[in-house]
Amino acid sequence: MQDLKPFRKKLEKLKSELTHRVTAIDKDIRHEGMSADWAEQASERENDEVLESLGNASSENLIRIKNALKRIESGEYFTCSLCGETIPAARMELLPFTTHCINCAEDLEH
Ligand SMILES: [Zn+2]
Repeated sequence: MQDLKPFRKKLEKLKSELTHRVTAIDKDIRHEGMSADWAEQASERENDEVLESLGNASSENLIRIKNALKRIESGEYFTCSLCGETIPAARMELLPFTTHCINCAEDLEH
């Protein structure tokens, strides 16, 4: 039986890091005091797009992390959600929030 504690710890850490990042990005997008200078506003808008896509990626990862934590709770962390095979711990260490074994992941890519 695989020890889940280090995985849970890692995921909790990732989760709090990402939560902070998403909150920080949100705050940045809503930047309170709008600058009067038009050129500066334009570059701020460009910046917003970058922040937004960063924020989206972070939110997506946050969902995956929460999902992974749920899988830990239900004892399905090492079970491939597609074929039901056991996912090797080495893979979960590399991709702590994957839900597929390597075979299914490869199938999905094609
Ligand atoms: Zn599989």
